[in-house]
Amino acid sequence: MTAIPLPYPALHASHSGIWICNTDGVSRAIGKGEAIGCVAETPHILLNAPLLGQRLGYPDLSGLDLLELYAFIHPAQFIVPTPAGLAKTLGLAAPEQEADVAHLYRQAASLLLAGLEAPHWQEREGAWSSAQALYRLRWPWAGEVGQKLTKPAQAERWLFSKLDEWEEEAPRPAPRSITLDETATLATLDQLTGAGAEDRQGQKSYAAAVAQIFNPRRIKGAPNMLLAEAGTGIGKTLGYLAPASLWSQQAGGAVWISTFTKALQRQLDRETRRIYPDEATFRKKVVVRKGRENYLCLLNLEDALQGGFAGRAAILAHLVARWAAYSKDGDMVGGDLPGWLTTLFRRNGTTALTDRRGECVYAGCPHYRKCFIEKASRASQQADIVIANHALVMVNAARGREQQNRPTRLIFDEGHHLFDAADSMFAARLSGQEAIEIRRWVIGPESKNRGRRRGLAARLADLASYDEEGGRAIESARHAAEALPSDGWLQRLAEGEPFGPVEALLHQVRAMVFARDESQSADAGYGLETELSDVEGPMIDAVATAAEAMDALLRPLVRLAQRIEHLIEEGPDWMDGPARARMEGALSSLGWRCDTLSGWLSLLARIGGPADPDFVDWLMIDRYEGREYDLGICRHWLDPTIPVTEMVTKPAHGMMITSATLKGGGGWDTARARSGAVHLEHATQEFEVASPFDYPNQAKVIIVTDVKRGDMAGLAGAYAQLIEASGGGTLGLFTAIRRLRTVYARIADRMAQSGLPIYAQHVDPIDTGTLVDIFRDEPKASLLGTDALRDGVDVPGQSLRLVVMESVPWPRPNILHRARRLAGGGTSYDDRIIRARLAQAFGRIIRRADDHGHFVILSSAFPSRLFSAFPEGTPIIRMTLDEALTEIKTSKSDMTQSGLSTETSFMHDDPI
Ligand code: SF4
Repeated sequence: MTAIPLPYPALHASHSGIWICNTDGVSRAIGKGEAIGCVAETPHILLNAPLLGQRLGYPDLSGLDLLELYAFIHPAQFIVPTPAGLAKTLGLAAPEQEADVAHLYRQAASLLLAGLEAPHWQEREGAWSSAQALYRLRWPWAGEVGQKLTKPAQAERWLFSKLDEWEEEAPRPAPRSITLDETATLATLDQLTGAGAEDRQGQKSYAAAVAQIFNPRRIKGAPNMLLAEAGTGIGKTLGYLAPASLWSQQAGGAVWISTFTKALQRQLDRETRRIYPDEATFRKKVVVRKGRENYLCLLNLEDALQGGFAGRAAILAHLVARWAAYSKDGDMVGGDLPGWLTTLFRRNGTTALTDRRGECVYAGCPHYRKCFIEKASRASQQADIVIANHALVMVNAARGREQQNRPTRLIFDEGHHLFDAADSMFAARLSGQEAIEIRRWVIGPESKNRGRRRGLAARLADLASYDEEGGRAIESARHAAEALPSDGWLQRLAEGEPFGPVEALLHQVRAMVFARDESQSADAGYGLETELSDVEGPMIDAVATAAEAMDALLRPLVRLAQRIEHLIEEGPDWMDGPARARMEGALSSLGWRCDTLSGWLSLLARIGGPADPDFVDWLMIDRYEGREYDLGICRHWLDPTIPVTEMVTKPAHGMMITSATLKGGGGWDTARARSGAVHLEHATQEFEVASPFDYPNQAKVIIVTDVKRGDMAGLAGAYAQLIEASGGGTLGLFTAIRRLRTVYARIADRMAQSGLPIYAQHVDPIDTGTLVDIFRDEPKASLLGTDALRDGVDVPGQSLRLVVMESVPWPRPNILHRARRLAGGGTSYDDRIIRARLAQAFGRIIRRADDHGHFVILSSAFPSRLFSAFPEGTPIIRMTLDEALTEIKTSKSDMTQSGLSTETSFMHDDPI
C-alpha cells in the first residue's frame, strides 16, 4: 500500500498560533483572517473542526476532518483526538513543534486512506455501501474514500441483517444458600492478583470481610450489610471481585456491582477479565448494564438512515451505523463509540438515536431480536457479574422493572455517591419540559417532527380494535393530554399568554419565582428559585384547575393499564409471543407515567396546606446565561436514602457499600447517614482499612495565603505560575463555571506559548471523558474543570502531579441545602460535605505507590477544622504563593533527578 500525498492543504491552530501546510508539503504560520479565508475557499485537512473553529473564532468551520475519516475506517476503535494521539495510533513520529502538526495531518490522511486498500483491513464489510450513501450526503471525504474502495462482488449485508440475535433462555434458578470459606476466598484472591504480586494484608482482610455479605440471610428485610472504607491503593476491586466471583460460581447466582463513574466501569471491565481469561466465557459471564437511554436504538437509526435526518445529522447517522456493526454492545455513552464523535457533529441528532423518550415498541419493533438494550438485559439474566451504575439499580427497583432479574447480592462501589444518585432518582419535578414529554408520549407528534414517533393510539391500535373499553381509555387519555403544555409554551409564558390549565399554573410559578427570588443568580442569568410557602389566591386556583386536568389524564391511563393486564391474562388468539411482549412493554411505560402523574398530584395537593416534613418543595426557573429553558415545582426527599433503603436495600440478601472516602473524612455516623444504614432495624457491619500509601512522604497540602478572594487577575496569575512551576500535569478544580472560564481565557495563550497546553470543561467542545483521555495522554497538559472531575479522574503517574482548588468547595446555599443543613446539624453538616469533597479531590493525586504530588488550595480562609479531610500525617502547610512555587519547582527537580521524569513514567497506566 502506498500513501500518496493528497491534493489538499492542512490547517492546525492552537493557542500559540496557526499553521498551514500547503500541497507542496511546506508549512508556514498564518494569521487568523487568512486562515478563515483559506478554509472558506478550499477544503482543508484538519483535526476536530469544532475545536479548530473555536480557536479561530469561526464556529461554522468545516473541512476534511481526520476524526470523521478515522471513525469511518476504524469504527469502535479508540484514539486520543490530538496530534500526538493521531501520530501514536498511526505509528507516525509525533511532531516536535506545533509548526509541524499541519504536515502530520497530510501524512495521516494519506496513510489512513491507503489503509482502505490494505488486504487485512478488518472493517471492510459495509464500507462500500456506507461510502455510497455518504457520497450522496456530500460528506467531504466521500470522494477520496470512494476512489479507494472497490465494489464488492456480492451485495453487502445491511447492518440490520448482520447483527446477532439474542436467544431466549430458561430463567435462572434461585442461587443456592452457601457460606464462603475464608481460605477459598483468599485462594481466589491470590489467583486474581497473580503470581509474584505483593502480599497485601489490607486487601486480604477486606476480601474476608466482603465474603460475609454472601452468607445466608437470617431475617427477611435485613440483608447482610457491610459498610467498608478502603483507602486508595489497597486493591479494592479485586478485593471484592474475589468473594463475588467465588460465590457466583458456587451458588449459581449473579452479583451486581454498581458504580458511579465511567472510569470505574472501565476499570472493572478490565479487572473482571482476570476472572475469565477466555474471551468467549468473559462475554457470557460479565455484562455491563446501563440505562436504556445510553444505547443505540436500531429503529431510530433505521429511521435516520432512511431520510429521517438531513445534512450533518444524516452523516453522523451513517458513521454511527458503521460503528454499530462493529460495536461490542451498542453503548453510545462511555462504551466503544468514541466520545468525540458526537461532539464533532455538535451533538446534532445524537439523542434522537437513543431511546430517551421511552417510545420503544418492544416486540412490535422489527429489530427487537437484535436490539442492543434487549440483548444487554437478557445477557445480564445469565451473567455472573453485572457491572451497573447506581441510577440503573435504583430505577429498576423503583419502577419494578426486570423483577425476575432483581439483584439480591449488591456491591455499591463509589458508595459515597449513593446519596446524590438517590437524590436525583427519587425526586419529582412538575415542569414544562416534563409535562410536554408526557403529552407527546400520549398524543404523538403534532408538528412535522422528524422521526417515527407515534402516540398511544398508534402504538396500541390492535388493543383498541379488540377491546372497546381499552379503546375508549386511549381516546380519553388523548383528549385529556391536550391540557398539558405544547410546543412554544416557554414563549407564551414569557408573553403572559399561557394556554391550558397546566401552562396557567406554570405562569403563576414563574411570576412567583421572579417576585420572590433573593439569590445572587438573578442578575447573573442563572437558575432562580423560591420556597413553596405562603401561596396566595391566584396560585391556589391555578393549582386546583391543573390538578383536575392531571387527574383527568391519570384516570384513563390507569384504566388502560387494567385493560392491558386483563388482556394479558385472558390471552386472546391474536396475541402471539411478540404481541404479548409488546403489551408488557406498554404496561411498564404506562406504570412509569402513572407514577409520575400521581407524584405530581400529591405535590399539588400539598400546596396551600401543611408541608410534609419528609420532603423539601420549591419553585424554580432553570436558566443558562439568561435564557429560560424549564420551570416548575420540585420535590426532593429530605433524606433520599429512605426510598433506597425500602426499595433496594431491604429486599436484598447481601449488600456492601464501599468507597475510599465512605466516611468522607468524618466518622462512621456520616457513613451510616449517607448510605441509609440508619434506617435499617438490624445492625450493619463496618470495616475499615487504611491506604498503604506513604502520604507523609508522597503528598503535601499547601494552603496559599496571599491570593485575595474575588481578585480574578490574581487567581488567574496564580494558576498560570503553578502550572508553569509544575511543568503541566495539573488538575485545576473550580466551584463556579464562570470563574473557570475567566481563568482559562486569561491564561490559555500564555500556557500554550510555554508548551503547556490547557484543556477545559465547559470551554472546549470536547466531552469530559475525552478531555480526561487527552490529559492522561499528554504529561505536559493541564485540565480545568468542575465537580465531575473531582472524583471521576483516575490518572496514575506523572500526568497528574498537582491539584489546584480555587477555593473551599462550600455547598451551594440553595433551598434544598438549607433544609438539609437545618436537619443535619448546621455547620457540622456543611463541614461533612466539604470534608468529603476535599478527600475526593485529594484522592486524585496519589493513585499508586510511586506517585508524588501537591494539593494546593488558593484560599487563605481555609479553616483548620477541615484538615481531618486529608490522610493522617499528610503535611499541611500555609505559605505564600512564591513559597509554594519554590516548593513545587524543587520537588519537580528532585523527581527528575530520581528518574521520575514526566516523559518516562506516564506510560505505566496500570489500574490500581
Ligand atoms: S426494541 Fe425498542 S429500543 Fe430496541 S431497537 Fe426496537 S424500538 Fe429501539
